[in-house]
Amino acid sequence: MSGATIIDGKAIAAGLRADVAASVERLGREHGVMPGLAVVLVGDDPASHVYVRNKDRETRAAGMASFEIKVPATTTESELLAIITELNARDDVDGILVQLPLPPHIDSGRIIEAIDPAKDVDGFHPINVGRLASGQPALVPCTPLGCIILAKSVQANLTGLEAVVIGRSNIVGKPVAQLLLAENCTVTIAHSKSRGLPEIAAGADLLIAAVGRPELIRADWIKPGAIVIDVGINRVPGEGGKSKLVGDVHFEDARRVARAITPVPGGVGPMTIACLLRNTLTAAAARRGIALAI
Ligand code: NAD
Repeated sequence: MSGATIIDGKAIAAGLRADVAASVERLGREHGVMPGLAVVLVGDDPASHVYVRNKDRETRAAGMASFEIKVPATTTESELLAIITELNARDDVDGILVQLPLPPHIDSGRIIEAIDPAKDVDGFHPINVGRLASGQPALVPCTPLGCIILAKSVQANLTGLEAVVIGRSNIVGKPVAQLLLAENCTVTIAHSKSRGLPEIAAGADLLIAAVGRPELIRADWIKPGAIVIDVGINRVPGEGGKSKLVGDVHFEDARRVARAITPVPGGVGPMTIACLLRNTLTAAAARRGIALAI
């Protein structure tokens, strides 16, 4: 039996990118503004190069300007800070993203804090973290925002749901929990030190897994009829010596029990860049005091 609706993150992300592109076009036509995203890449990490290339392609496809700043792994912290200062001052740059991880000799916290909060499209600056936590308008981290959009594609009003987030990272777990609170959910954050994790998870109407442990979550962790959002991306050995990607949730188990579930790949993953584009558009409009319904 395969009861669950499979949430099509690819299609939902494509719809969001199209909405952003339409708003970008309107911003240009009505206000003469073209939003710009600057992505800073330090070093030669192959996976980071792939991410940055994808971001560049999607940014241009949405009608925005894309600026790639690639510097060697030997770049010093003060050289990187000088690059951030310059991007903060540029009027054609609305969003600044520093691709993580940074080389170990650079303090990523210092770099993030140097970014103008109004251009912090990753939503990692402490000012944006604080704004989100205190219910003020903020630039919100992209993957968590994508999770909320996917959950609301199943049920538009999340008010009153028991939401359980497994994982407490600054990038996913904590911000997604804040967003769920803002949606009026009753939120539990579980993590590696939580006791009775399967029972905690099984209480969830909305379960968000951001752990990084392949197929940790089995059928008996899932409340029948729950919405399951699987953020995990784990590479494991597949057939014929090739590797494959799986989530933190055992997909075949979960689809028998849940009401709706995101697949891996093709669920949360495609939402991240789409939300980055949305944040860049939001930043471009907000910096100029333009009210824009995206
Ligand atoms: P992280 O390693 O920073 O945090 C993992 C969290 O899971 C920690 O808070 C830890 O307490 C918890 N945890 C670890 N083992 C656990 C266990 N056995 N039981 C319960 N909790 C446990 O990871 P992250 O950056 O938050 O990413 C989580 C996953 O999401 C990873 O697989 C990552 O690849 C994926 N991810 C996907 C996207 C995307 O789709 N675009 C973006 C970011 C992260």
